Amino acid sequence: MAHKAECEEALDRLFEYIDNELPDDELIRIGEHLKSCPPCEAEHKINEKIKRMVHSTGGEVAPGDLRSRVLATIREARTVE
Ligand SMILES: [Zn+2]
Repeated sequence: MAHKAECEEALDRLFEYIDNELPDDELIRIGEHLKSCPPCEAEHKINEKIKRMVHSTGGEVAPGDLRSRVLATIREARTVE
């Protein structure tokens, strides 16, 4: 099942959300979505982890590579549902 437009939006903004780079109303909207949408929340947690990892290596790990690996794993998990 393809995910909803809301999910696309939330996933699109996760990195900005984690960095607190969004206006308050967007932060609230995405926060609410994450609470009501387990797959997006799971990805949010993974993104936070990636961010911490990238931080701890001083930026040596390319976030893009990690992210696509992680997303592939999530997609596999989703097709099982
Ligand atoms: Zn969602």
